[in-house]
Amino acid sequence: MSEYDYDLIVIGAGPAGYVAALRAAQLGLRTACIDRWRDREGTPRLGGTCLNAGCIPSKALLESSLRYARLRDEFAEHGVLVGGITLDLAQTHARKQAAVQRLTQGIAGLFSAQGVDWLKGEGRLLGPRRVAFVPHGRKKPRTLAAEHIVLAPGSHPGTLDTAPVDGTYIVDSDGALEFAEVPKRLAIVGAGVIGLELGTVWRRFGAEVLLLEAQDTFLPIADAGFARLALKSYASQGLEIRLGARVLDARVSGHGARVHYSDADGEERQERFDRVIVAVGRRPSTGGLYSDDSGLQLDERRFIGVDTHCRTNLPGVWAIGDAVRGPMLAHKGAEEGIMVAERIAGGQGEINYEHIPAVIYTEPEFAWVGPTEEQLRQAGIPYRSGRFPLAANGRAVAQGETDGEIKLLAHAETDRLLAAHIFAPQASELVAQAMIALSLQGSAEDLARTLYAHPSLSEAVHEAALDISGCALHLA
Ligand code: FAD
Repeated sequence: MSEYDYDLIVIGAGPAGYVAALRAAQLGLRTACIDRWRDREGTPRLGGTCLNAGCIPSKALLESSLRYARLRDEFAEHGVLVGGITLDLAQTHARKQAAVQRLTQGIAGLFSAQGVDWLKGEGRLLGPRRVAFVPHGRKKPRTLAAEHIVLAPGSHPGTLDTAPVDGTYIVDSDGALEFAEVPKRLAIVGAGVIGLELGTVWRRFGAEVLLLEAQDTFLPIADAGFARLALKSYASQGLEIRLGARVLDARVSGHGARVHYSDADGEERQERFDRVIVAVGRRPSTGGLYSDDSGLQLDERRFIGVDTHCRTNLPGVWAIGDAVRGPMLAHKGAEEGIMVAERIAGGQGEINYEHIPAVIYTEPEFAWVGPTEEQLRQAGIPYRSGRFPLAANGRAVAQGETDGEIKLLAHAETDRLLAAHIFAPQASELVAQAMIALSLQGSAEDLARTLYAHPSLSEAVHEAALDISGCALHLA
């Protein structure tokens, strides 16, 4: 008999933790996964933020709002005349919830198929090899022993002292996915990825949307030229984005909220909104995750300290996902889950942190992978760029979606592909071509010599690759 209850205990069943648990079980490890998430009815749910209050519900609402806006604004141009369009927002939310349930129940099915024990309740690291587990509805913890422990507690919305969330009129991203009515005037504090996606949802449903962004630069994480392109495109869709705007005070007032902010010129303004969304980034959920005498080291921002393979300072204790350094993205956490499970099982899992794609699911979508031109210049890496506008792509013209551009960057001497910056319909899919080329260490010429179906948006990737050597065919 083993001295341990499990080979591996994972705390947290978001995309990082549940993937780690599944991969570990596939590799033959006796695995348990502790998670405390419960939905509004009190039912325990797997999948963490991503499935319950992040990626999936937001994409479900983006899809519904896109169809609504297209029907309202674009169908007549196609000769399809539809009268009396109304929105049944309760049904929209029901559909979103059905998608969430289907996927979260799917993970429960995978856990039972792979033999992962789902422990519903709170987990706390006591030290190497020991975890305290308090099942839902109980107070007394059980101590469980495991040879390895993976911490995957994820993150929660950041707050602003100047804009306290009341959950009805001033909400965080969780509340913004649940509005029972379309707000007439909506303010969003923070024009980052989450603010832009939520703003897009409610704008398409008919809200007037103002995004207040404290930074002077729009999307500083993205390619500067493409960020300017995106800003222009979002403005044309009715997303009003004010940069350099600092919220001084946001308070609930009547059936709405009053927002007092200073604009880029330092001038103070007061405006009333029906709803305010605070979308100022996310914080690691490390509070209560470990006992003080466990010895676990965190950094000054309360992220768990890890090395490149996600080992913490404690033997046999690993940490992955949003609660450790790196982009707060589901696919980054999931890859870390696979890497850690493989290493625990004696394998050599690795992640290339340079090649993690980022996507903003607006319209067009905005996706990128690899460095920006600015970063390459700063690093002294010689490069060549190739670009192609969607306006010159046959499929985009047929679809009536010509807003956008694709840019590829390749090493000037070796031609090795370095980066892709894509502002285009289905950029989340198009960027996968660059991902494959990058992971196979391919060159711009490899993409240029690949044959693409016509007409397809992918041909714009082909042309951008051809443009690196000045050979794009449909570019004057
Ligand atoms: P989480 O998903 O946060 O899961 C952590 C889990 O651990 C939770 O279930 C939590 O309840 C549980 N837990 C924490 N502490 C304990 C404890 N002590 N005991 C028991 N259980 C515990 N990312 C993308 O890649 N693509 C997107 O399109 C995208 N869209 C998003 C949209 C929104 C609105 C938001 C808010 C986020 C979005 N994200 C997106 C980010 C994505 O959701 C996160 O990066 C991802 O969920 C992080 O995964 P994780 O496993 O680290 O943590």
